[in-house]
Amino acid sequence: MAEIKKVLVTGAGGFIGHHLARFLKAQGFWVRGVDIKEPEYSDKSEMDEFLLLDLRFYDNCVKATEGIDEVYALAANMGGIGFITYHNSDVLYDNVTINANTAEACKKNSVKRVFYSSSACIYPTYKQEEANLVALKESDAYPADPDNEYGWEKLFSERLYKSYDEFYKVRIARFHNIFGPEGTFDGGREKAPAAVCRKVALVEDGQDIEIWGDGEQTRSFCLVDDCVEGVFKLMNSEVTEPLNIGSDRLISINGLVDAVSKIAGKNLVEKHLLDKPQGVRGRNSDNTLCKKVLGWEPQISLEDGLKVTYDWISKQVK
Ligand code: NAD
Repeated sequence: MAEIKKVLVTGAGGFIGHHLARFLKAQGFWVRGVDIKEPEYSDKSEMDEFLLLDLRFYDNCVKATEGIDEVYALAANMGGIGFITYHNSDVLYDNVTINANTAEACKKNSVKRVFYSSSACIYPTYKQEEANLVALKESDAYPADPDNEYGWEKLFSERLYKSYDEFYKVRIARFHNIFGPEGTFDGGREKAPAAVCRKVALVEDGQDIEIWGDGEQTRSFCLVDDCVEGVFKLMNSEVTEPLNIGSDRLISINGLVDAVSKIAGKNLVEKHLLDKPQGVRGRNSDNTLCKKVLGWEPQISLEDGLKVTYDWISKQVK
């Protein structure tokens, strides 16, 4: 009988990480999760082992990767646009140390395959100045000019992990706005879909809802179930270059608010806060390469994804 593969998910106390750990368990892997905090909205016993470790330190990365065949590196100090705009040195220092030490520890422990979660934030600002932008393809990354330090660190760490490809196989995804249930929805680290669901759930029909910026900025949003499936397909592919994992359906933030309000059955008055950060003007995923090399792209509609997310968040805030 073939031995069961042992996988490590770093950031398994976080949003995508615990969904991914659950998915990998269901695929039959032995799963170790590592994070500096326990999962907030699921039970750590869903994983075979869960270790509380600070991965900014090399010795902890060595402990985390001991006896492991494959690593999914998702740990990061991050949050929505509010958080990454105002915590530049934390974002750079913490994430560079997490990734440098994880990459090196994987080499020490002879890990065979490593997945790294990069971001659409690596794409250059000059390609994202219009709300109605041309979707971003992987080759748009250079000449580099990410909009924020979080994006610069992700781009650096893509290169960092790739530099280890003589020691283990490296797979890299650039996530585009992943959302879904069992993720941060308040406290300052939440992202737009979760923040919008929370705000819509908390206001009465006919009241004001606050939106950062003029709401005409655009994004695409991908449900976490699609994301973890894409990650798994990419990890098990022969694709060595970074790949977009995201939806290619562009929507404005005002459009997102309308979609969530409709799900909630509320008519709300949009109040725009023009002094709040809004990030690049537009961002969308070009999925041509993803479809070509994985024979797959996200399947779940934005409305279906928002429905499960709204249902979950509205229960949390009541
Ligand atoms: P998350 O914040 O929910 O998860 C990240 C986890 O990393 C957290 O649980 C956090 O506690 C953990 N972490 C932070 N510092 C750590 C440390 N020093 N040691 C160990 N663990 C530490 O975020 P997420 O949305 O699940 O994102 C997962 C990964 O995907 C991150 O690398 C993120 O940058 C990337 N990503 C996410 C999105 C998205 O839309 N959610 C988009 C692009 C990229």
